[in-house]
Amino acid sequence: MKILVAVKRVVDANVKVRVNGDNTGVELANVKMAMNPFCEIAVEEAVRLKEKGVASEVVAVTIGPKAAQEQLRTALALGADRAIHIQTEEHVESLVVAKLLATVVEAEQPGLTILGKQAIDTDNNQTGQMLAALTGMAQGTFASEVKVDNDKVAVTREIDGGLQTIELILPAVITTDLRLNEPRYAKLPDIMKAKKKPLDVKWPTDLGVAVQSKLTLLKVESPAERKGGIKVGSVDELVDKLKNEAKVI
Ligand code: AMP
Repeated sequence: MKILVAVKRVVDANVKVRVNGDNTGVELANVKMAMNPFCEIAVEEAVRLKEKGVASEVVAVTIGPKAAQEQLRTALALGADRAIHIQTEEHVESLVVAKLLATVVEAEQPGLTILGKQAIDTDNNQTGQMLAALTGMAQGTFASEVKVDNDKVAVTREIDGGLQTIELILPAVITTDLRLNEPRYAKLPDIMKAKKKPLDVKWPTDLGVAVQSKLTLLKVESPAERKGGIKVGSVDELVDKLKNEAKVI
């Protein structure tokens, strides 16, 4: 079975993002970029399934600028066998990403397609669901456990207040939650080997998908500054403040 993993280039999770001057986005100049953390979990799961002998090949795919090849090389260093880069310098919204991924699914026929549950830059949490809808595949979102058994996969999902286990008929789409696994670090020899692994570049026009946006980002704002706390002298004073100042009790 082949596994397709979608990985996105985003601002590194450790960077404190700053809204740009005209409130149209965040500062990206000289900011460290990395693979979206949920996509790292997706790669790890695919590689573990290959190590267990469940999968025979892991293919990583990204849609994004030329620089996004760095994230594909990371996926290759972590154990993916080959990569596909759908190159565009334009902003691509989720539906376009899902349509492009659907063309890759059509061409590659993976048994499993694994995505992150959300990209930490735009927090959309919709690409996996859209891909499943476009391809007619079953979907198991927010996976915290994945068990493949012949032509089926059991997915344990993190839902409000507990866990839900569902069984999907393959081929299927899975989106990863935080507790699915702990991704490994790439070792230096694997980083070197990854440079030689195949990386195929395509353009959205090759795939017949228009990179047009139906969504306009109107404004980005920083959260309100937190005010400093105060120390109260007694429980009575605390209760009084909660009641009469904060008016929360
Ligand atoms: P989102 O729906 O944007 O929150 O993203 C959810 C997941 O979809 C990500 O974790 C990726 O696996 C995948 N995805 C989103 N955008 C891209 C992209 N440009 N290239 C590859 N995969 C993507």
